[in-house]
Amino acid sequence: MDGKLPFGPDPRTDQLARIHAALIRAFGRIERPDEKRRDPVWTLVQGVIGAQTKTAISNASTDGVLARFESWEAVAGAELDDLQQVLANQTFPSVAAERLKACLSAIIAERGAVDLRHLSNLPDEQAMAWLEALPGVGRKIAAGVMNTSIFARRQLVIDGHHRRVMQRTGLVPPRADTARAYTALMPLLPEEWSAADIDEHHLLVKRLGQVHCRPARPHCAVCPIHPDCETGTAIEPVR
Ligand code: SF4
Repeated sequence: MDGKLPFGPDPRTDQLARIHAALIRAFGRIERPDEKRRDPVWTLVQGVIGAQTKTAISNASTDGVLARFESWEAVAGAELDDLQQVLANQTFPSVAAERLKACLSAIIAERGAVDLRHLSNLPDEQAMAWLEALPGVGRKIAAGVMNTSIFARRQLVIDGHHRRVMQRTGLVPPRADTARAYTALMPLLPEEWSAADIDEHHLLVKRLGQVHCRPARPHCAVCPIHPDCETGTAIEPVR
């Protein structure tokens, strides 16, 4: 005996696995095909310009900005007015242009080019910290680069829907911000979940937030994860 108490697995990991299974039963699989995994820089740019903008629009803008300037280094050196024009479909084009230029310029200052390949040699924690030190990059964007790009690392993306659902289930403290929600949830992910499983988990929880667990008046009576939700069972006791 090494003096440590024989703790078993955290029961909240089982709760998360039950939630995941219930969401697949309700919504079906939401898997990201391998061909949809993009270059990490593309994924970073898509996140940095994407505030309050639908994913499909940000995807098109990211392709558009690269097509217009032909390299990420040229994007970093572009005039803000020109960048803003190419990003006109984003919800906040001027903010997107400023953030993008600052972020890409910071990468060039550190690495000599817009290149993130060095992150594949770093442990997750160090790679996340490096990304989060870039202007305009928080926990959600950093986790997105690590998990959903061709890096395919075991990192959990948490957006507003995901955070709200998990706060209501009780797995995340009620007023937790994204970073705190991430810190609460990462250790609870089942060990056997791959990067693709974690990606799918986020997409399923997000779907629940869009369909049933709306900000006002959540549909608890018909919610597929109701038995595993602290808020839902308080409003609508399990029968
Ligand atoms: S039971 Fe209600 S509060 Fe809980 S996740 Fe479902 S809709 Fe949201």
